[in-house]
Amino acid sequence: MNKIYLDNAATTPLSEEVIDAMVDVLKNNYGNPSSTHSLGQEAKILIENVRRDVADYLKVTPAEIIFTSCGTESNNMIIKSCVDHLEVERIITSPIEHKCVAETVLEMKKRKGIEVVYLRPDKKGDISLQQLEDALKSSDKKTLVTLMHANNEIGNIIDLKKVAQMCKAHNALLHSDTVQSMAHMDLDFSDIPVDFASCSAHKFHGPKGSGFAFIRKASGLKGIITGGPQERSLRAGTENVCGIVGLGKALEIYLKNMTAYANHIKEIKQYAIDQLSEKITDVKFNGRSAEMDSSLYTVLSVLLPFKDPMIGLKLDMKGIAISQGSACSSGAAKPSMVMMMVLEEEEMDLTTPLRVSFSHFTTKEDIDALVEAVAEIAESFQIEKANIEHR
Ligand code: PLP
Repeated sequence: MNKIYLDNAATTPLSEEVIDAMVDVLKNNYGNPSSTHSLGQEAKILIENVRRDVADYLKVTPAEIIFTSCGTESNNMIIKSCVDHLEVERIITSPIEHKCVAETVLEMKKRKGIEVVYLRPDKKGDISLQQLEDALKSSDKKTLVTLMHANNEIGNIIDLKKVAQMCKAHNALLHSDTVQSMAHMDLDFSDIPVDFASCSAHKFHGPKGSGFAFIRKASGLKGIITGGPQERSLRAGTENVCGIVGLGKALEIYLKNMTAYANHIKEIKQYAIDQLSEKITDVKFNGRSAEMDSSLYTVLSVLLPFKDPMIGLKLDMKGIAISQGSACSSGAAKPSMVMMMVLEEEEMDLTTPLRVSFSHFTTKEDIDALVEAVAEIAESFQIEKANIEHR
């Protein structure tokens, strides 16, 4: 059975061109980039070319890009080093961060006694700038603010420039988990005074196991992996040349086609909103995900009007790969933190969240298949309800 793939916020399929570029490196560029001979230096040049392209995209200098193994590693490195090396004593964050940020912040609290302030999102999933300002003003402690740019479950986007300007005005450092927005949106860090950001190649048709951290020049941040002098001694270990080239190729393709991809995906997303609204009675959408101008175009968070913890499995059996929430919490019995924030308690007992996440490969036929499958499941619940009422 040909799978319908609607889980692109979890990961994206690799483009053919990315695979070709990576295979070429695997076959022909096996030199260690730290070796001084020509094979090593050829591999080094491949890495530096990607670093330059990434820096051009973000309008920063190549020295501010540090290649890592993934978004998780980048976020860990930034938060841990802020505490260990930049004397951060307080972290302002939100309860809807990705686990790799949330757990790292908690670890800093437990192990290092860092004070943690949680900003509370409203029922739309938004964090107010006023709340942030109040929290920034409330202490003189050296503070790191860590807020994700685009939420991976409901697609809400923060105003990164305003947040960054506010952090600067209050002398706080700002880290933003930009894993879901990187490559999908224009990001100009010469204009947005963010100190640290993260990227993961597999969110834009690059390989898993390849990412980078943006680390603002002269920030003083250090690495957490010690060893050789690779990546300006910020990330020891022989570089994943093939993964970095894959990241570079995926970024190049995405940036070249960003407008076309975004337009296609927005059309598909609007189609999904319309079809679901028409065919599933009482369907709702979580956070700002159904608002085209204020959410990430790749994510639509749906709230189905019946409780079915098995829906992911049922849809999988019908050939549709999709997550209920984020990939790392969708297997859990408990609702995710994000859902706990945006849903009322009674709502959680009667509804099922479903995250539809798109790519430029997604078609209207994929959406038709999803809507038909969900409608069938919804109908089975209505029949069951009618039977119970009839008894
Ligand atoms: N941050 C966000 C917002 C994500 O969605 C993810 C992946 O799901 C990560 C971080 C972790 O990235 P990686 O899978 O590269 O570790």
